[in-house]
Amino acid sequence: PIYLDNHATTRCDPRVRDVMLPYFCEEFGNAASITHVFGERAKDAVEKARETIAAAVDADPREVIFTSGATESNNLAILGVGRCLPPGSHLVASSIEHPSVLEPLQKLSEEGHTVTLVRPVQNGDPQAGRVLAESVEEALKPNTRLVSIMAANNEIGSVQPIREIAALCRERGIIFHVDAVQALGKVPLRDELREVDLISLSAHKVYGPKGVGALIVRRRQAGFKIQPLIYGGGHERGLRSGTLNVPGIVGFAHAVALALADLENEMVRLQQLRNLLFHLLKEQLGERVQLNGPDLSRPDWRLPGNLNVRFPGIEGETLLLHVPELALSSGSACSSADPRPSHVLLALGLSETEARASIRVGIGRFNTEEEIRYAADVLCSAVRQLVDLQSALEG
Ligand code: PLP
Repeated sequence: PIYLDNHATTRCDPRVRDVMLPYFCEEFGNAASITHVFGERAKDAVEKARETIAAAVDADPREVIFTSGATESNNLAILGVGRCLPPGSHLVASSIEHPSVLEPLQKLSEEGHTVTLVRPVQNGDPQAGRVLAESVEEALKPNTRLVSIMAANNEIGSVQPIREIAALCRERGIIFHVDAVQALGKVPLRDELREVDLISLSAHKVYGPKGVGALIVRRRQAGFKIQPLIYGGGHERGLRSGTLNVPGIVGFAHAVALALADLENEMVRLQQLRNLLFHLLKEQLGERVQLNGPDLSRPDWRLPGNLNVRFPGIEGETLLLHVPELALSSGSACSSADPRPSHVLLALGLSETEARASIRVGIGRFNTEEEIRYAADVLCSAVRQLVDLQSALEG
């Protein structure tokens, strides 16, 4: 099958695998055991990786805390900071955040804080799915202490005005966390994130290995407190105990370096492929295919490789069963264990039926034009088949 689910995860780039390999069996030292050269070499590799990750987001290497991935980073940011805030603090996030942000916020609201979720621009608008700075500003209260807004959404690809929201937070002394998982290595981020206090990153969305990520904890502007989730040997400045995943960290840094080295070209290429796919679908299906999320012409509004569309009257899940040649994801569930329609599509103002009629396409580094043309044909014939079947049943 053709892999078109690059928001869920990406294939580890073979160049990344190659730099990781020596750290399994030859350079296997514990980065914390620096009484001998095995540990020293592992530590050197980790510190070099830390510099690469820090540079990608204009941070100091000491501000990089390696974690098991962005779920942990988001939990550490929200719970770690939230539990150090005065009781009854007010927290703000968007309603289209990842569950690894929303659920910790829910937990904090059970523990006595209050949470406001900001709605994105509604579907149909060219900026649909964007969380505007003015909407965030309206939600702020005198006791707002923490704001969390993702840099780019994992379902509809909307890219958020992080710099503007950061400026709002900075003026008011509010701590600002950004889940930058889907944006890292996909759109320019360095300048956007300059004023952000906490940044979550993950390796496997950027052609690196699974199970490794980072939280950037930048305390130079706002002097906030953060407590660990995991206690033990005091690794990572006491914020994340546990022996470091040296091969994973080395691979993570190389993946980020590769993505950033080719960012501009790859953005153009992916946007062309994505727009070609939508164009081919539109050409053949007309009104039977509708766009979810922001306009396709603006890489500053929508991730270049993201497409999310709905086929009115057709269930996304059913459609996926009819296209076994394509690896895609449907708009009906954020995980296969969850039968509810996507909270992101509902927050865009789509009905449950519309959300269930949606599919997400994530085009990535290893996709070719040939694959995109093939995917368009396969999708169109499956949609036509389902439409015919439906009219036969109704007639
Ligand atoms: N945040 C966003 C926006 C994501 O898309 C994901 C991936 O599913 C995560 C967080 C979680 O990242 P990880 O898989 O590294 O835990």
